[in-house]
Amino acid sequence: MHRMLDAGIAVAVKALEPQLIDFIQLLVRTPSLPNEEHAVQQQIAAQLRALGMAVDEVPTDFATLRTHAAFNDDGFAPTGRLNIVGRWRGSGAARGRGSLILNGHVDVVAPGKLTQWNDPPWSGLLRDGRIWGRGSCDMKAGLAAGIFALAALQRAGLQPAHDVLLQSVIGEESGGAGTLTTIVQGYRADAAIVLEPTSLQLCPVQSGALTFRLRVAGRAAHAALRSHGVSAIEKFALLLATLQQLEVARHAGFASALYSDPRHAAPISIGTVRAGEWHSTVAEELVAEGRMGVFPGETPAQARAAMQTAVSQAAAADDWLSAHPPQVEWFEGQFEAGATPLDHALLQALQAAHLAALGAPAAMRAVTYGSDLRLFTNHAHIPAVLYGPGDVTLAHAANESIAVDEVLRAVHVLALFVADWCGAARA
Ligand SMILES: [Zn+2]
Repeated sequence: MHRMLDAGIAVAVKALEPQLIDFIQLLVRTPSLPNEEHAVQQQIAAQLRALGMAVDEVPTDFATLRTHAAFNDDGFAPTGRLNIVGRWRGSGAARGRGSLILNGHVDVVAPGKLTQWNDPPWSGLLRDGRIWGRGSCDMKAGLAAGIFALAALQRAGLQPAHDVLLQSVIGEESGGAGTLTTIVQGYRADAAIVLEPTSLQLCPVQSGALTFRLRVAGRAAHAALRSHGVSAIEKFALLLATLQQLEVARHAGFASALYSDPRHAAPISIGTVRAGEWHSTVAEELVAEGRMGVFPGETPAQARAAMQTAVSQAAAADDWLSAHPPQVEWFEGQFEAGATPLDHALLQALQAAHLAALGAPAAMRAVTYGSDLRLFTNHAHIPAVLYGPGDVTLAHAANESIAVDEVLRAVHVLALFVADWCGAARA
């Protein structure tokens, strides 16, 4: 990368710190639970317009998504939720590698028990070098970092040769309807960075996740005569052991240095169990719901078949369950895995920018949670990577926060990356 250019960008990033803090605080102080993203999206749009970008307001409409293989109906409003796409038009000069999408979601999860928070969840307080509040880490700071990387380039007097798109989307936490909308509406680029909190690690691989429900039948009887009944709870215990064995067996043949815990790259977890009607009645029915991980390279259909086979085999070995087979249902989120090849030029260029800005290479990681990365890699055929400030273990938790220093580092890396990838030069 060009040394003079880099120095100008570094100065510009530092100068933008007060505005960056203000903007993250503004975003955090504007609650954006699913279905309620409108106000924060207008703030994003205003910021992009202030940077001179052409801004599209792109409404989500389930009617246009429903037939898409990657669509998940999240149960929220099927129309009207706005996505924002800002475009910084490239000069068209013969420089750089291509166009770019910077993508982030504005929807946040509910704050949970308010008594667990030291400050109100929408405080946006700046304390101890951190900004506090729901959405600070996941992922309003990441989205702000993408926007301010572009602001830094402008401040340094630079213009890209190729288009840069800044996408602020809704509905990521509940299935990805926002990013899918942008794909269906034809927004494209040669690469995408999804600005999720990765602690500034490069994460080009994500596992998938499938939500499932298990229905187990029993036969009711008075607890005093329990041998006359069949407990759905006891039969579920057999199936739970089966699922635990399935998780171990599925990981036996799996190895990847990208996962910090390769034995749980695609975990199987039961989240809810409801059974029985009365303490002195043998439970007649049990309904359990959970989440099954999908390995990179595995299709959701393959993962679903593996669970169905395991459950069927367990049932066949039990007299009651073979006559009353447990039902496996798949519902709500059905998220594919996604991956960008590790030798892709996108990753090399981002790694080079990270090294130039911060003086040490970034770790390369896979993540076990679902994200919009899969929509880019699998359905838009756009190479994509997760990269952003923030510790994902703080996401969705009480007292969520983000370190301002880390956001500034992200802005610096992203600005250098955009300059290189999109071929920035003096305007
Ligand atoms: Zn997120």
